[in-house]
Amino acid sequence: MTNIQFPGSERLHQSASEVLATGVSSGMRRRVTPTPLYFDRGQGPYFWDVDNHRFLDYTLGWGPLILGNNHRRVNDAVAAQLQRGYTFGAQHELEIRVARQIVELVPGIEQVIFSNTGSEAVQAAVRIARALTGRNKIVKFEGHYHGWMNNVLVSYHPTGGEPSESQATCGGQPPNEFADTIVLPWNDIESLRSAFDHVGDGIAAVITEPLLANSGCCEPREGFLQGLIELCRRHGAVSIFDEVITGFRLAAGGAREYYKLAPDLSVYGKAIAAGFSLSAVAGRKEMFDVLRDGRTFHAGTYNGNPICLAAASAALEVLADGDAFSKMHAHGQSLWRKITSAAESHGQPLVVCGAGTVFNVHWGVSQAPRDYRETLRSDAEAYTRFRMEMLNQGVYLLPDGRWYVGATHDDQALELAVNAIDHSIANIN
Ligand code: PMP
Repeated sequence: MTNIQFPGSERLHQSASEVLATGVSSGMRRRVTPTPLYFDRGQGPYFWDVDNHRFLDYTLGWGPLILGNNHRRVNDAVAAQLQRGYTFGAQHELEIRVARQIVELVPGIEQVIFSNTGSEAVQAAVRIARALTGRNKIVKFEGHYHGWMNNVLVSYHPTGGEPSESQATCGGQPPNEFADTIVLPWNDIESLRSAFDHVGDGIAAVITEPLLANSGCCEPREGFLQGLIELCRRHGAVSIFDEVITGFRLAAGGAREYYKLAPDLSVYGKAIAAGFSLSAVAGRKEMFDVLRDGRTFHAGTYNGNPICLAAASAALEVLADGDAFSKMHAHGQSLWRKITSAAESHGQPLVVCGAGTVFNVHWGVSQAPRDYRETLRSDAEAYTRFRMEMLNQGVYLLPDGRWYVGATHDDQALELAVNAIDHSIANIN
């Protein structure tokens, strides 16, 4: 367990629980141990809790803070926009500027639409696919997260049943609302082929995280994503990459650039605005014909909000800088190497998988998992002990083994992390 005391956070959590149902603002934050921490401020790769502990931050707000905490250029852009207005409910030039920046950075896309959260953008993509194809069924994969809506919060982290069974993730999800959601095991092109053979003419879309970041950062098997895109094309379905995590994180062009692939639609969120609430759906121009000609509809009071677009524009300028991503990947790879070598020298079996900028540590296994079921073999308890030791050393990590690396993780941060890893692995027994 941790030997740090968090009296301020504990007091605030108690107080929050009186008026804030569950005490936290996102279900994902309830699992965080030892107690949900309350933060006061952040700067670069560090943030400080209300008890004034400084932590090196490898959580980056669960992904968005690709430029770290409190980035000057983002701050300046937002501050300047604040003087001009925060929402117009009408058009403004930043919409065009950011759309152009995205089109220039991401290969194979011509147009975008904006919304506010990843969950919303996924719904917009699914609706576009349904309107385009005139079909209702969608395929998603076990262990993948596409937001909290009923039609996609299906078989997210099931603890039993079969990998191709559509299972509600929580109470309050009527089965009829995911009756058109087909669930399949990921990384298994034969099961996708077979689904297309059986109900291919009813499938509107196949949605996938290109790197399975929400379940252990499993990497796609050689040819799987390409096969998925081709099967969709052959059967007249829409291929959708959910790049809410991988977008502007694996590379400036996200998974499209990193894996050199071109699905029909891609969904972005998180890093796109470096911590402000913006999401987007992107694709070739003709994918959006159904919106242009009125066959379907997409709206939102805050869509294209100028504050978030000002943040996005500044962030995308920084990310467009040629070596931003190679530096981040190099930092991440140094962490991988350190974790693996320290574990080896202390006789701790573990593997690291994913990418330099987002990866997962799996304790107690010798092979990188390839799908959600395989992640269940990892020793989550051992990882929690490691995470608590890292917290003692001033490094803050997510509960599920995932690490996010950003542009402000510099050499000093690396040195701190490397020492903490050494110490923590030596002390977790
Ligand atoms: N898709 C993926 C791949 C995600 O990781 C998330 C959020 N973790 C979402 C969609 C939903 O995004 P949001 O939380 O912004 O609604």
